Amino acid sequence: MSLLRAFSDFFFPRYCCMCERRLAVAEEEFCSKCLRTLNRIEYEGGEVHGVIERLFWGRIPIVRATSMFQYEGEQTRRILHNIKYFDRPEAAVVLARVFALEQAGTDFFDGIDMIIPLPLAKQKRRKRGYNQCDYIARGLSLQTGIPVVDDVAIRAVNNPTQTHLDHEQRKENVKGIFQLVNPGKIADRHVLIVDDVITTGSTLLSFAEEIAKAPGVSISVFSLAFAGQMVKAALP
Ligand SMILES: [Zn+2]
Repeated sequence: MSLLRAFSDFFFPRYCCMCERRLAVAEEEFCSKCLRTLNRIEYEGGEVHGVIERLFWGRIPIVRATSMFQYEGEQTRRILHNIKYFDRPEAAVVLARVFALEQAGTDFFDGIDMIIPLPLAKQKRRKRGYNQCDYIARGLSLQTGIPVVDDVAIRAVNNPTQTHLDHEQRKENVKGIFQLVNPGKIADRHVLIVDDVITTGSTLLSFAEEIAKAPGVSISVFSLAFAGQMVKAALP
């Protein structure tokens, strides 16, 4: 395997998804230095309620929420762009596996029955050729053995870009864009919904609110990156 890889790397060099240095034979998508130095968000677990979890309080039956790393600067932007726009979704599998491996000593995956990737609108999926969230879900599943379920909800509307909207406008913009089509599948279950990046959380919240229509469902949230502010606020 590694001989074949060495041979192939000689003719078709592979580059780190984060720093663009050439990868060694044993490295997958990221060089070992980038994987080590990527600015992790520490999931503390137990009774510690993080900033990301608070975005969902009072809106959905949230159990736990975290992201793998803080979105800041050119290198983290490059990771997400490579995953989303430049046809390197396998990098999402690698990161999700590393995240799941690192949670081995925490309660993050405790009691979770299934993993649900945030759906893309059909039109967008066709254009891009893949949904990056499917790859994140697959990476988590490979490491934890928790199954991925992708047929419980659809994205009914391809919402316009959110970039120039403020927080309130974003919430309005994504209202009702998802539709729960298979509530029986998740009734009374604990589901983990996954996205690539949380900015204000409005898209994910809109999806989670739709998922929450299934009776007895409880919800946890994971994203690769968090673009909001990690302020350590006191509990209300
Ligand atoms: Zn690197």
